[in-house]
Amino acid sequence: MTDSRDTNEWQQCAPGDLGRVASTLRARRTRREALAVIGKAAAAVAVIVVAVLGVQYIQHQPAGGDMDFGGISCSEVGELSADYLAGRLAPDVADKFEEHLKKCPMCRESIEDLRHQQSAAVPTDTAWSGGRQGQRLFAGIAD
Ligand SMILES: [Zn+2]
Repeated sequence: MTDSRDTNEWQQCAPGDLGRVASTLRARRTRREALAVIGKAAAAVAVIVVAVLGVQYIQHQPAGGDMDFGGISCSEVGELSADYLAGRLAPDVADKFEEHLKKCPMCRESIEDLRHQQSAAVPTDTAWSGGRQGQRLFAGIAD
């Protein structure tokens, strides 16, 4: 096996050979540097594209809003929310529901709102004691 480098290595250079080799190498290096620049630019563009798509994706989600967390989607959470607040969900469904709430700020907010609305909507025992106070007040006036 003859290595072509062995046979060529010590041959005398023809005039201009070295210059040609040098310019070839220079051209090759310039091309390599250009490719590196293009590669970096392409990578930068890719990063920007991914970032833009990511932002669009994130911005899109809350508006279109049906993310799947904990095995159920936001719309399912919406449907189940009344039962959840009333404690009527099956334990496994309630687990999924709470898992979803942990990961989904939107649904968590909605449930908090619902909870506040419910507690503001005069639960029966408060209404009853309020009624009793009202009676007492009325009795006081009557005396
Ligand atoms: Zn959700």
